Amino acid sequence: MQTKHYDVIIAGGAAAGSASAYFLTANPDFKGSVLVVEKDFSYQYCATALSAASIRHQFSTPENIAMSQFGTQFLRRFGSVLAVDGQQPDAAFHEGGYLFLASAAGMEVLLENHRTQKALDVDVALLTPGQLATRFPWLNTSDLAAGSLGLSGEGWLDAYGMMQGFRKKAIAQGARYIEDEVVDVQRQGRRITGVTLNDGTALQCGTLINTAGTGGPRLARQAGIALPVESRKRCVFYFQCPTVIAGCPMVIDPSGAYFRPEGQGFICGISPAESNDPECFDFDVEHELFDETLWPLLAARVPAFEAIRCTRSWAGHYDMNTLDHNVIIGAHPDIENLLFANGFSGHGMQQSPAVGRALSELVTYGKFQTLDLSRMGWARILNNNLIIEKNIV
Ligand SMILES: Cc1cc2nc3c(=O)[nH]c(=O)nc-3n(C[C@H](O)[C@H](O)[C@H](O)COP(=O)(O)OP(=O)(O)OC[C@H]3O[C@@H](n4cnc5c(N)ncnc54)[C@H](O)[C@@H]3O)c2cc1C
Repeated sequence: MQTKHYDVIIAGGAAAGSASAYFLTANPDFKGSVLVVEKDFSYQYCATALSAASIRHQFSTPENIAMSQFGTQFLRRFGSVLAVDGQQPDAAFHEGGYLFLASAAGMEVLLENHRTQKALDVDVALLTPGQLATRFPWLNTSDLAAGSLGLSGEGWLDAYGMMQGFRKKAIAQGARYIEDEVVDVQRQGRRITGVTLNDGTALQCGTLINTAGTGGPRLARQAGIALPVESRKRCVFYFQCPTVIAGCPMVIDPSGAYFRPEGQGFICGISPAESNDPECFDFDVEHELFDETLWPLLAARVPAFEAIRCTRSWAGHYDMNTLDHNVIIGAHPDIENLLFANGFSGHGMQQSPAVGRALSELVTYGKFQTLDLSRMGWARILNNNLIIEKNIV
């Protein structure tokens, strides 16, 4: 039996994988074939479908800012760019803004991030407690020193809708999707020659792309590479509030708790302390997290939240880069044709347009053409030259 060959095989077809398939097949300079292998077409457990689906420009790392700025530009023209047969997909992008709140202890970092962001044209404003109270009368500002408000470009969307938009357009442009799992990777010296699927099929490839999310470390191991990425559980709670909270952005409390509007209510969550954040593969919701931690924090910040009712919740997994909480993008120096996009650590949904475009450039031209993401590659990991993102949510 002849082994089928694809120029590019993408392992994992959610946000990052489907964006890569779209950008590759949209590029007139790329003439090859693309196969996306996705182990679960329901997408019910992938981070993309379970994410809080928000996009911000308020990072401390210039590359993270630039990736999200491109994400916003792309989302603004999402429907027309990804239309198939005249049907425009809708990612329901809502530019509701982010509001990072700081107590006196957080002021230094807030100001430093503000300087970085302003230098990179982020549309952000620092507000005093008085200005915050005027603009958001429902907010308790008594313990705050300042807030940093995104005035445009930031907000939230339908992440599943975004992923499906990429996927459908990629298929219309010639990418093939199959529901199967990459269970083994064949490597000869410095090259990947092919993959084996769960049903036993052997496929050859010119390039393999690892966009397998929390499945990324396993895939890397099959190629002999140790990827410093672990699966970390995050719970999201949906609640309703009897009082109208007008003009609410995505709010990041100094405690780390976040909340934002979602439909008729709100979603919220909080990351655990790093010392209490083990690798985790189950999807059990930690209900006590809402009752014992989040609710008191939310009610202290917005007194009207004293009367909220949590009606829904879910858990998803971050693909956490345990070294510096940033994506690792590109080839490992030991293997030329295995491209990684792993370790998004909770901000990969918004980065998927930029990362998809970047991977398509690496495949087509062998280097980044638009955004220079070389600092986000393997060299920093291997040389311990880490890029610590200070604005982690
Ligand atoms: C609760 C939560 C909140 C979040 N909030 C935000 C947010 O507000 N903003 C933001 O930008 N990001 C957020 N994120 C992070 C974001 O969701 C992820 O970074 C992003 O979706 C990663 O996309 P991905 O395509 O790399 O991975 P995933 O969405 O996890 O997709 C990986 C895919 O690979 C498939 N797969 C795995 N192994 C294999 C294999 N061997 N063969 C074939 N297929 C395989 C899986 O089935 C899956 O569909 C959040 C994540 C969580 C869990």
